[in-house]
Amino acid sequence: MKIFHTRAALSDYLNNSQNKHLSVGLVPTMGALHNGHISLIEIARNETNLVVCSIFVNPTQFTDPKDLDNYPRPVEADISKLENANCDVLFMPSVSEMYQNNEKWHLDLSNLDDRLEGKIRPGHYQGVTQIVFKLFDTVKPDKAFFGQKDFQQFLVIKTMVQTLNLDLELVMCPIIREDDGLAMSSRNIHLSVKEHKNSLILNKVLKETREDFNKSDIVKLKETAINKLKSAEGIDLEYFEICDADNLNPISDKNSNSIIALIAAKVGQIRLIDNIILK
Ligand code: AMP
Repeated sequence: MKIFHTRAALSDYLNNSQNKHLSVGLVPTMGALHNGHISLIEIARNETNLVVCSIFVNPTQFTDPKDLDNYPRPVEADISKLENANCDVLFMPSVSEMYQNNEKWHLDLSNLDDRLEGKIRPGHYQGVTQIVFKLFDTVKPDKAFFGQKDFQQFLVIKTMVQTLNLDLELVMCPIIREDDGLAMSSRNIHLSVKEHKNSLILNKVLKETREDFNKSDIVKLKETAINKLKSAEGIDLEYFEICDADNLNPISDKNSNSIIALIAAKVGQIRLIDNIILK
């Protein structure tokens, strides 16, 4: 696996005569890789000829400086996981490689960044689009791979691609879970054994909501889920919403083409998100 730390060196490599005709797949990550990330690399390997994974803990998308400081950065372990997954290229830039001082960025994301994650983490999706645009601009991928785990992020990036008319395809990859159902996340390593156990209620409630989807109306489904989450041990619920999956508008009927339930909750100090497609 080739490792690059600068945009110029990565561009040179991707533009060299051997590589420039290959289709390029990009998997952007913040590292602390787990099997969810590796599944994206595997899907990218199947769909493109040259897979680039980026690891960059992007400061502009963090709203809490403590969260940024505490974000795990196990570089050596990440490199060996990517080598085992036959990733072709790792791009691991420094903050100063990606940002000038006081750089400004704003993209109109209509209402996508004022709800759910966007409401709780103001500015988060501006930071996400800012870095993902830079990565797209450097790698110029044919396809970019993102997880359904961050469903709202996928819609935000889709909006950016449409607004800026970017020439690439976005691929949404399924959520990979632990055997016990907890959605894999780099933050899970901070959960104590007890907190891990408590957090299983998130996936359980999502699954039960899907099981009951045909038997109950949206208002009742939502009320039942929220009651279960609010009475669960060690769970500090931030939101449970049932939304139109095309635009994340909250819904009260089942007329939308595609419907999704989304959860965010704090378990101890750790913030977890999860979701499930209902229709
Ligand atoms: P992150 O490193 O958390 O920024 O995630 C990098 C990419 O991996 C994003 O596209 C995430 O949606 C995706 N991802 C994170 N966790 C999972 C998971 N459990 N299953 C599938 N994809 C995931």
